[in-house]
Amino acid sequence: MSQYQVTARKWRPQDFSQVVGQEHVTIALSNAINSGKVPHAYLFSGPRGVGKTSTARILAKLLNCAESPNVCGKCTACQEITLGQSLDVREIDGASNRGIEQIREIRDNTIYTPLSLKYKVFIIDEVHMLTKEASNALLKVLEEPPRHVIFMLATTEANKVLPTIRSRCQHYLLKRIPLKTIIDRLSTILEAEGYTHENTALEEIAKAGDGSMRDSQTILDQVILYSEGNLTLKATREVLGLPEAIYFEKIIQGIAEQDIVQILEQFNTFLMEAGDGKSFGENLTAFLRQGLLLKKLPAKHPLLDMSEEKYEELRDLFDPFEEQDVLNLLNLSLELCDILRKETAERFWIESTLFKMFDYKNRISLSELRQDIFKVIGRNNTATTTNITQKTTITAQTSKQDVGNLGVFGAKLEERRQIKAERPEKTVVVKASLEELDNTKKEVEKPTPINAILEANMETDGEKIVAPREAPLPITPKPKSNQVISGDTVEDTIKNLFEIP
Ligand SMILES: [Zn+2]
Repeated sequence: MSQYQVTARKWRPQDFSQVVGQEHVTIALSNAINSGKVPHAYLFSGPRGVGKTSTARILAKLLNCAESPNVCGKCTACQEITLGQSLDVREIDGASNRGIEQIREIRDNTIYTPLSLKYKVFIIDEVHMLTKEASNALLKVLEEPPRHVIFMLATTEANKVLPTIRSRCQHYLLKRIPLKTIIDRLSTILEAEGYTHENTALEEIAKAGDGSMRDSQTILDQVILYSEGNLTLKATREVLGLPEAIYFEKIIQGIAEQDIVQILEQFNTFLMEAGDGKSFGENLTAFLRQGLLLKKLPAKHPLLDMSEEKYEELRDLFDPFEEQDVLNLLNLSLELCDILRKETAERFWIESTLFKMFDYKNRISLSELRQDIFKVIGRNNTATTTNITQKTTITAQTSKQDVGNLGVFGAKLEERRQIKAERPEKTVVVKASLEELDNTKKEVEKPTPINAILEANMETDGEKIVAPREAPLPITPKPKSNQVISGDTVEDTIKNLFEIP
């Protein structure tokens, strides 16, 4: 029976060409070595599983290979280092060898010349875990190391390494690996190993690996075992658990197809299977952001960070929506997140947001509404009450809800108007308000007046939407009358707002 070897180990990069996603480091290192500059200490920092110790090992080979500055892969040095059998290249795990004794032992060892290689290399992983005393001892060694000794330190937290140690090292920062790069690498591995796969499966795996090649490969191993070498999306999801995006895909589909039951059921399932209300809000926001980016960016754009298949799938999902619709949904979701940070009754707030999203076609945004008001009352300061009374048609589709929205907008104006209301003539008041309109513009676009909006909507929504049996109907909070100015039509509201009889 052949010995099973995990992918991360079997496919560990053996030269710089195989270290993917870190070209900025490997090219710099190669150039430095080619020019004959070999410092006595390196520091590699970056997230876990992105190739720090692999880079260190390859560097040890580069420096010691019979064909240095290349890696031949065949000479004794290359082979011994690859197999971890070289007595001159030592790997120390800083997390489990934290004490001063270990560092003293290394110090004593540095005195002896290498047994077979050109350089004696000490690779200390997770170097930030060393105790304070051990760090100081290491610093002493780094101050005057023998010429045949090279230190390669690796850490996930460079900021926790003594600055005095950092300053004695040539520091290289490794980055999270882009999704596409990980997918390509996994695909190469699977082909070489003779396994079949669906591309969407690899995408799910790479996403779960979150920029770490090692984590992605560990998940890949699990899926290979579970799926018996046929990596389907279904099998992958069964191993990983349902990825959160699936709930939001169904919710967006529910909004597009006007299926409130599906929307509420998915929300309920999310709470049972995936997370709490806050994480629902955050995930929904992230998903809608992706939807908006899809509308703006072409396929393969790096900001999208997704495969072409996924791009097409999501583009179809968001196809029924105009860009402005997605933006409005995203704004509602952002407002929700803001509320969930402060409020406790999560279910109630989320459901009211979902009801509003469901009703997206009948809603117009505050900014659209503001533009309509400008159309009616004119943008210059000479506007008078006559403009308002004579030209009262508002073109945008409006529903009772929008009166609520306008009410909030109006309330803002009202507040400001009262400050300036010393002068009694109506025209003067309107002029003052118009000046304020421009100043208020930015404020109104912020999602601050959400409480008032919600109250206004609840009043009109209660009868219209039938919630499924399990879901509690939204309760109707008392509107605070001093916050909301309303009327039966937008025209009425404007009249009320400016106290026009
Ligand atoms: Zn070699």
